[in-house]
Amino acid sequence: MFTKLPLPRLFRVLRGSFKQQVRGLGLLEYHSHKLLKDFHIPVPNGITIRSPQEAKEAVSTINAPSVIKAQILAGGRGKGQYSSDGKGGVRIVKSPGDAFESASNMLGYHLKTKQTPPDGLLVEKLYIYKAVDIAHEFYVAITFDRDRNMPVLLISDAGGVNIESNPDKLERFWFHLDAGITNEITAYIQAQFGFSDSEIKAISHILNQMVKLFHEKDATLLELNPLVRTARGDFMCLDAKFDFDNSARFRQTEIFSLEEQSSEEKDEYEASKLGLSYVRLDGNIGNIVNGAGLAMATNDLVSLFGGKCANFLDVGGGATKETLSKAFDILDKDSRIKGILVNIYGGIVRCDMIAESIVAAASKKQGFRVPVIVRLQGTNCNKGLELIKQSNLENLIVEADFDAAAQRIVNLTS
Ligand code: GDP
Ligand code: MG
Repeated sequence: MFTKLPLPRLFRVLRGSFKQQVRGLGLLEYHSHKLLKDFHIPVPNGITIRSPQEAKEAVSTINAPSVIKAQILAGGRGKGQYSSDGKGGVRIVKSPGDAFESASNMLGYHLKTKQTPPDGLLVEKLYIYKAVDIAHEFYVAITFDRDRNMPVLLISDAGGVNIESNPDKLERFWFHLDAGITNEITAYIQAQFGFSDSEIKAISHILNQMVKLFHEKDATLLELNPLVRTARGDFMCLDAKFDFDNSARFRQTEIFSLEEQSSEEKDEYEASKLGLSYVRLDGNIGNIVNGAGLAMATNDLVSLFGGKCANFLDVGGGATKETLSKAFDILDKDSRIKGILVNIYGGIVRCDMIAESIVAAASKKQGFRVPVIVRLQGTNCNKGLELIKQSNLENLIVEADFDAAAQRIVNLTS
């Protein structure tokens, strides 16, 4: 039962660096704490704040040494580096005055950790709680082992900020979601980590509740690090990282409504809600295409003529007036864009409906801000192109040929 997984792979999954991150919903720490609380797993009584003044007030209310933590969607904050003062993203303060000073150096600055992009992430919120007197730090996680098609529980008594340097101490227990953490596993954990009877009772409660949360909320990773034994002998989770399965969005609306995005990701998020696939690129030509294949071909053709696309935007097979209007809204907000190429192949979708939607979007905006070239092919394309021509809208140009359309948008934007 305890055969080792190849550890490098396991750690790529668990502590994956920024580059390897799989897209899925991540939660900020204070949201994770709330979820743990809902599942009766002990967490500190924390307060979320957005200004140094609020930090001062929070610590004044706590009236004891407190921990201030940067809220970003990445771990490794304790050992991270702030753009302001080079210090980390987890700080212990002794007084309300200290809290004000620390928060002033944390809010509005970037925190760089092993798990953030190279420039770090902007911190807009802090989480504050009464500092816990820690006797020992454990690491506990549940994730899926895809090789075995089973969930796996990972535990180490070398938890905390140096978990990566003690991979050998990580014990693994595969289990079935229906059976949960069996008595056999619990007995092994007690023997392995030397927990007393009352301690294993507390641990067992936490593990069972974690399995419940993992199952009920469609999580792909629940990681408590550290789960601490306090000086008083209780167990409490001080930091949690959770990931959830994106395909479960439809039935986990409550969790997905907590989703936080950076301003750049907001467009992607808005787009995804309407079924559009939007990816930001670094060029200046916006494009709106239906079908991923055509979208890639459009990017390629634009590159071939020496241009660079600002995005990949697939409105999907079932493009509607609403999705097209949203697509134009997203591109309109992007000041880098100097021209837009709309490339639609009418299969199931009718080109005249697309044309009507484009004209409607243009009229709503009283004409487009940048030149928009429309290339339509397929079902009712002549009718569609005619509709656009007749609209006589400024900046709206019709081009039936793919090559010519791509070349023209490159010329207009370079
Ligand atoms: P991470 O670095 O992003 O994983 O942030 P954590 O929340 O895990 O905090 C990092 C480390 O700060 C923990 O491993 C603890 O050692 C320490 N820490 C966090 N909260 C407390 C606390 O209440 N009391 C004490 N003494 N240390 C804490
Ligand atoms: Mg941690």
